[in-house]
Order: sequence, then C-alpha cells, then structure tokens
Amino acid sequence: MKGFAMRKIGEVGWIEKEKPHCGPNDALVRPLAVAPCTSDIHTVYEGGIGERFDMILGHEFCGEVVEVGSEVKDFKLGDKVLVAAITPEWNTKEAQAGYAMHSGGMLAGWKFSNVKDGVFAEYVHVNDADGNLAHMPEGMDYGVACMLSDMMPTGFHAAELADIQFGDVVAIFGIGPVGLMATAATALKGAGRIIVVDSRELAFNIAKEYGATDVVDFKKAPTEDQIMELTNGEGVDKVIIAGGDQRIFETAMKVLKPGGRIGNVNYLGSGEYVQIPRVEWGTGMAHKQIFGGLMPGGRLRLEKLARLITFGKIDPSKMITHRLEGFDKIEEALKLMKDKPANLIKPVVIIEKQ
Ligand code: NAP
Ligand code: ZN
Repeated sequence: MKGFAMRKIGEVGWIEKEKPHCGPNDALVRPLAVAPCTSDIHTVYEGGIGERFDMILGHEFCGEVVEVGSEVKDFKLGDKVLVAAITPEWNTKEAQAGYAMHSGGMLAGWKFSNVKDGVFAEYVHVNDADGNLAHMPEGMDYGVACMLSDMMPTGFHAAELADIQFGDVVAIFGIGPVGLMATAATALKGAGRIIVVDSRELAFNIAKEYGATDVVDFKKAPTEDQIMELTNGEGVDKVIIAGGDQRIFETAMKVLKPGGRIGNVNYLGSGEYVQIPRVEWGTGMAHKQIFGGLMPGGRLRLEKLARLITFGKIDPSKMITHRLEGFDKIEEALKLMKDKPANLIKPVVIIEKQ
C-alpha cells in the first residue's frame, strides 16, 4: 500500500509498504478523510520523539472498516468509524488505573505515527477495535469527524487537566486548533472569564465564537503584564497551555493565583528542561499545580464528544480553514501545516467525497 511517511528527521516522502496484518481483536480501516497535526511537524522537523525511518505519518482520520478480526464484536465491514489518535490497550493495568493512554508504558497509547505506521496510508491498523473504534453518527461531515481524533479530545482534556470550575478566570496560552477546542470546552464547563493568548486575528475571532471573553497578543507586550492588568493584579484561577515552548511555564506561574492549576497539553518538542520560576511558585509552597497529559482515547469518549457535535453544543467546522480533495493532497496539507500561512487554522484532506 501507499503511504506518506517520515523518511527520517527533516525529510518526508511517499513510500510503499505491506498492507498491515489484522489480528483477532483488530480492524483494518480505509481512511475517508485525514488531517495533519502540529504534532506531525514536531515529530518530523524537530525530532520531538527521536529518529524514525520510513514511518507513515498522521494520527487524525475517519474511515470505513475493511477487515475485522475474529474476536471483534461490534464492528463489521463497511461500517463508518471514528478513531482517536490514541489507541490504548484496554486490557491493561494502566487502563484499569484510569490512565489507558499510558497502557504498556509512558505515552504508549500513542501508537499512530509514533511506534507504528500512521493514518496517511491506504489502510490503517487499529488495535483493540471494540475499544478504539466508534460508529460515525449518520450524516456527520468527514472533515468534522477528523476533529474527533485529536483536536477535540485534546482541547477538552486540557480543560479537564486544568479542572475548570464555574466562574473561573482562565487563561489559555495558544489558540491553534487545540487551544480553540480548549476554549470551547472551558466555556462548556462554565468558566466566567476566558482570556485567550495568541497573536493572530483569525484565531482570536474564532476563539470569541467559542466563548473567549478577552484576547491578549503575546507579540505586543509580555503576556504576564497584560493578564495582570486585565485582572487588576489578581491573576487567573487556571491556565491552559496549548502553545509555546518550555519557557511558557514561567509565564503561566506568574499569572496563576495561589492554589491555581495549570493544564498542559502542549507537546514540548525541544529543549532539555521546563523552567519553573522559584519565587512565583511561592518558593515551592504556593499550591500551584501542574497537570500535563496525553489525550485519552477510547470509544466511550469518542461517542460522548460526537454527541456534543450531533446535538449542536459545539461546531468544530469553524476551525477547518482548508479542505483539500484526494489522497495525493496529503503532502500539500502537511506542507501547509509546516508553513502555517496566516489564513490557516486546520486543514483536512477529504479522500472520498460524501
Ligand atoms: P498550533 O496550531 O501550533 O497552535 C499553537 C499556537 O500557540 C500558535 O498559534 C502559536 O502562535 C501560539 N503560541 C506560540 N507561542 C506562544 C506564546 N508564548 N503564548 C501564547 N501562544 C503562543 O498547535 P495545535 O495544533 O493547536 O496544537 C497545540 C499543541 O498541542 C502542540 O504542541 C501539539 O503538538 C500538541 N498536541 C498535544 C496532544 C496531547 O495529547 N497532549 C494532542 C495533539 C496535539 P505562533 O504560530 O505565532 O507561534
Ligand atoms: Zn494530532
């Protein structure tokens, strides 16, 4: 089969590979639409997870089941399915402990375009199919379905990690598609004030549609100064980090109230250490907590998030700025993600028209 791969750090290209083998609990899925992710860029161009050779990229897609193993109960050939970017082994101790995303080791639930071939391929292998597939709701747009793989679950997890409560003042650092979904999730969880931090007008406008109340341009003046001014020197209850590099924790600590909580979903692609400022961390005694997490996967969560779309609580299509058509457009979509033109939030590649 054909796939678009990371040839090595810094190099991508089309390759040919064997069609994956479908084990008794697995499924093979033919992608109907795929989306490139910022994480693919960290992986290829920053070497964020180390060297990989001829690994097919991509972890965001929806598709049609073309093969199921003998033990798979709830899915059959021809079913249209949602698949999360993280595909845990559900029969593990880590899953039983509530951290299925780390089943088999730290971050090991992240298999696509990490430890096995990803979804920019003609066929995709999904382990533990009954746990990792969900039926695509009737009539759901394929591009929107792709947002359920990663952007929505990650953005929503950011709001969970930050433990958003009714009336909270929340700062969200970085409003690419993940931060935008975190904005929507923060609003759904009942935050009182949502201050989004980024630099692009387009992102600010979409964030306002998802519930942002204030915008801060980090390129105009230091973020901490702007947030402290907006909050009359009080700071914020919660910070969500969905952009920036390891130095962003410094800013987060500075604007966080004592007892506040940071929810990080950012993939720190480079640098050795995360910097925590000693004084703003109350010399270690400010009860300021940091929670960082890989998004959870799984069928139940896919179904719950899909329900929010089906019943009109959220519309992820607002952030799909580019729709390309045809399997061979994957290369162009990834390049868009890398070059990030001013009018881009999230591209999708529709492989088969609806
Ligand atoms: P994105 O499109 O690159 O968005 C990040 C945004 O943050 C950009 O608009 C960027 O602006 C902005 N930014 C950079 N420095 C900043 C600063 N100092 N303050 C405020 N904003 C700043 O990325 P995304 O697709 O939304 O993804 C966000 C992160 O989540 C990525 O690191 C991605 O790899 C990660 N991720 C994690 C998971 C998980 O499971 N935890 C899953 C998916 C993705 P500029 O473009 O101007 O720099
Ligand atoms: Zn992703």
